[in-house]
Amino acid sequence: MFIRLLFISLIMAMNVQAKVRFEPKPLPYAYDALAPVVSAETLRYHHDKHYAGYVTKLNQLIADTPFEEQSLEDIIMNSDRAIFNNAAQVWNHEFYFDQLSPDAAQRPSGALLEAINHQFGSVEAVREAMNQAAVNLFGSGWVWLVVDDEGELSILSTRNAGLPMRHGLTPLLALDVWEHAYYIDYRNRRGDAMHDLWRVMDWRKAEDRYENR
Ligand code: MN
Repeated sequence: MFIRLLFISLIMAMNVQAKVRFEPKPLPYAYDALAPVVSAETLRYHHDKHYAGYVTKLNQLIADTPFEEQSLEDIIMNSDRAIFNNAAQVWNHEFYFDQLSPDAAQRPSGALLEAINHQFGSVEAVREAMNQAAVNLFGSGWVWLVVDDEGELSILSTRNAGLPMRHGLTPLLALDVWEHAYYIDYRNRRGDAMHDLWRVMDWRKAEDRYENR
């Protein structure tokens, strides 16, 4: 009887394991830490509903498929349609939340600052170009500051769940241009939302990403 119960418990544990292949990462700051630029209400929806929803959906979609055993990056590179969309949105949101901070460095320094000044003229010019790309992106998507294998910086716009990895590029910063990222606080004023977001965008993260690429 004991053995049988143990066996059943093991089977149940394995099943549970399979269903939670990925788990949402907690925010690295309090829900109200980025207010008023990003309100606690926005973060609760954005992190707990949208991002966590992509994680739940991804776990459901990959169950009993060859993707079940793959890393998130491998799934992103090898999948398409619903599995790609949910896997990429998991990755995009972890990257996005990680670069925001209540104590954000307002400028980069070192090699990244040099590269930016050389290619764009100034940090302000990068911010302005990314904001403009966000305003011009029709529908939902992302705007990225990226670096290629030669160290060349550029700005990349991707639709929906698209991401630099699929273009062979390394992202340094991301603007989430889905309405769910700003609509509670800014309604239709996407340009204002992007403009203000830079107050909580931590350029130290971009530097780390640039140096460790
Ligand atoms: Mn989002």
